[in-house]
Amino acid sequence: MTILSDLHQLLGADGLLESGLDRYVSEPRGRYHGRPLAVARPGSTEQVAELVRLCSKHRLAMVPQGGHTGLVGGGSALDSELIISFERMRAVRHLDTVDASVVVEAGCTLAALRDTVARAGLLYPLSLASEGTATIGGTLATNAGGNLTIRYGNSRAQVLGLEVVLASGEVLSELSPLRKDNSGFDLKHCFIGSEGTLGLITAACLALKPQPAQSVTAMAACADLERGLALLKRLRARLGETLSACEFMPELAMQFVLADQPGAAHPFAKPSAWYVLFQADSAIDGQGMEAAVMDALAHAHDEGLIDDAVVADSLSRAESLWALREGISAAQKHGGVSLKHDISLPVARIPAFLDQAQVALAEAVPGIRPCPFGHLGDGNIHFNLSQPEGMSAEAFRALEPDCNRIVFERVRALGGSIAAEHGVGLLRRDELQRGQALKVSLMQSLKQAWDPQGLFNPGKVVAATSRKAEQGGDQASA
Ligand SMILES: Cc1cc2nc3c(=O)[nH]c(=O)nc-3n(C[C@H](O)[C@H](O)[C@H](O)COP(=O)(O)OP(=O)(O)OC[C@H]3O[C@@H](n4cnc5c(N)ncnc54)[C@H](O)[C@@H]3O)c2cc1C
Repeated sequence: MTILSDLHQLLGADGLLESGLDRYVSEPRGRYHGRPLAVARPGSTEQVAELVRLCSKHRLAMVPQGGHTGLVGGGSALDSELIISFERMRAVRHLDTVDASVVVEAGCTLAALRDTVARAGLLYPLSLASEGTATIGGTLATNAGGNLTIRYGNSRAQVLGLEVVLASGEVLSELSPLRKDNSGFDLKHCFIGSEGTLGLITAACLALKPQPAQSVTAMAACADLERGLALLKRLRARLGETLSACEFMPELAMQFVLADQPGAAHPFAKPSAWYVLFQADSAIDGQGMEAAVMDALAHAHDEGLIDDAVVADSLSRAESLWALREGISAAQKHGGVSLKHDISLPVARIPAFLDQAQVALAEAVPGIRPCPFGHLGDGNIHFNLSQPEGMSAEAFRALEPDCNRIVFERVRALGGSIAAEHGVGLLRRDELQRGQALKVSLMQSLKQAWDPQGLFNPGKVVAATSRKAEQGGDQASA
């Protein structure tokens, strides 16, 4: 029997797609264009386990895929690989409001989970612009971050337990809601952030928080980023742990977004160099949050930290401020090609990084337009570089390796990370190897031990050691 007829027998007509695979192949940045063998859509953990045993028998490479919103090629199949989609495993298995925990299947979207628990007065504190499509499995496999990391941590911090199908086809089932469990190695952390290279996450037990009863969103205008960081310090001191998000964007990003969003208005009469968007939330009912935010901003103004500020006086005003920040990536098309870097730095070193990187880039590529924005509170910068006016797209794309070298050298010198929240996938695999050889060799040993045939997402994150998985590798990127 061929592998396809075996797969068909196991999964049935609904569970195996051999044509019409475009939506499983196309990805947000259009860099990777493999031709997968087929898409398997298992409907249960048992079926995933059988599927893995079958693929192992046929030595067929498997690429787990959630919403395929990942930005580093982790969910992209190379030629002749099998995509395993979790879209038929979306159930919320169990919601416990006393324990404040939920057991949910990997294919449930982040938005669906947030809506479900909100109806019970609870919050799953992960918020991404992609949450309508991104899945729980994908967010755990990438250890997704997002806007609320400053208060709640990344995806990893929400996980109480996982159910994982291993390369042997066995199921590691640890869906317990225990907050304390020191019975040996905490293996779930190896799967979180492993981007589908060590096991297939089929379900998770996640910790929940209370839904905020008060929420205030505000934007402040700052003359420079040193003042932006001083504002962050001031907000932390005044608002304590109610400070849930603190983002930043430059005036260039504001201009891109205003050009992209018909009807959007500049929040300030007079432009400043930088804008800091923040949100404070509390589960305690009342009006105190707005007064606390106003007070913090008044002090910041008196100290000369901010030029101006707006505090949203309605939910729709808060949403329109957030839309300015969330719209930056899409709006950058108005600046032509954008070379993107998802990096992080110790927060206090952000201004030094920007100064150094921008000087070096301007020397190497005169006219280049850096558009850094992102999560100020946790040091995660989307350091995107827009094409110089007058330069062709092809000429600018050809400079990507030079720009990457300049950016990543500065990131490393200042103690940062070349892959902050999006992960490594195919895009940053070789860069990871360059900077952290010992770490990568330990990762390869773990991969070899837990996936000896090298069939789980080969070539992603770390180069394969046991299987000729480099069929394309980085060449898959356009
Ligand atoms: C508009 C937009 C905004 C975004 N904003 C953010 C942001 O703020 N913060 C952030 O961190 N990311 C962000 N992202 C990136 C992306 O949404 C996240 O990486 C997300 O976690 C991916 O989830 P997914 O379900 O789409 O996973 P996919 O893209 O399908 O897969 C991502 C990786 O996880 C693996 N995987 C998927 N499911 C499983 C599973 N069940 N078991 C094992 N491995 C699996 C895949 O093989 C792949 O390596 C954004 C993306 C877009 C397009």
